[in-house]
Amino acid sequence: METVGILGYQGCIEPHEVLLSRLGVSHIRVLSVADLERIDRLIIPGGESTTMLKFIKAHGMMSPLREFSRVRPVWGICAGAIIVANEVSNPSQDSLKAIDIHAHRNFYGPQTESFSVELEIDLLRGPLEVQFIRAPLLAPTSSRSEGKTLCVHASHQGQPVFFSQGNVWACSFHAELGQDTALHEEFVKRSATPL
Ligand code: GLN
Repeated sequence: METVGILGYQGCIEPHEVLLSRLGVSHIRVLSVADLERIDRLIIPGGESTTMLKFIKAHGMMSPLREFSRVRPVWGICAGAIIVANEVSNPSQDSLKAIDIHAHRNFYGPQTESFSVELEIDLLRGPLEVQFIRAPLLAPTSSRSEGKTLCVHASHQGQPVFFSQGNVWACSFHAELGQDTALHEEFVKRSATPL
């Protein structure tokens, strides 16, 4: 049976565990390279990307996570999308550079302006209720990696909010705070893209 990892240093971890348990999917929190070796796919949760990055570096996880995202499905959510992005601004910071997007942090306002929307996502049959919490603006970078198409799966008010490229998903919204397991089900089903 496959195991999904959730990067477990910081942020919105438990709601993913609840949804994955409801789907009957085995999951662990990933804190080390040894944990990464036990999993088939990884969720990098929402939270605070600067803090998460400090933990990633302190645990020597930058290169192992980069390598993992080349060969296995990875889903970066909000702060997680900032972590996987190629470029980060407002302010700029290091990242895994695993998907050809730019993340402009805190674009959707402060915590007090958090909001929920019913979002149409092309991978799902019906809309999904998602939450924007100090979310970044995501946009394609001007130069792209060869041979890996960057796709947009959902937009909100004319801005793309969900990208995929190769093995990596990046969405600016939280998809784990409600009861709907639809997007988690899709993530668990998708196969790794061969290099
Ligand atoms: N504002 C946070 C950051 O820049 C992301 C917020 C979130 O993940 N909900 O890291």
